[in-house]
Amino acid sequence: MIDYVTKPALFLDLDDTVRYSKKGDYINSPADIVLFEGAEETIWGYKNEGFLVCGITNQGGIAYAHKTPEDNEAELAQTRMLFKKDPFDMIMSCYFMPGGKVFPYNHRSLLRKPDVGMLVQCELQAWQQGIIIDWAKSIMVGDRDTDEQCALNAGIQFSWAADFFFR
Ligand SMILES: [Mg+2]
Repeated sequence: MIDYVTKPALFLDLDDTVRYSKKGDYINSPADIVLFEGAEETIWGYKNEGFLVCGITNQGGIAYAHKTPEDNEAELAQTRMLFKKDPFDMIMSCYFMPGGKVFPYNHRSLLRKPDVGMLVQCELQAWQQGIIIDWAKSIMVGDRDTDEQCALNAGIQFSWAADFFFR
């Protein structure tokens, strides 16, 4: 029997919340990724208070053939490497987007924000590590309406990236 512990989670959108494109466009290569100044310190502040840190990123560009799942994995690896110390406990990506042209990603998925599927993936993965997510104390941070709506759908607190990171 696992000794379960309860932890709040900090759910972070990635693009234009934690990282951005040097070129000022959608991120399309690892070399194009920059972390926002100060993001590392703020995230580690929460982690040190006991928060589970989870990345939650819609990557519909995969359904539209702008990038592949492998490209996304390389971009995530680079993102984590840009931190002096990687704060992420887990990162979930959603490749699905209706209207895209790449099967099997061109259909609706409940993983895609504003639906809560990626939060559920985090809940299950945390559970397997003996961690119960405390939804009442969890926070979602993002820069888009879909992030806010995702938090509303999950019934958790939402903070705009600009406020959360004091930008
Ligand atoms: Mg974003």
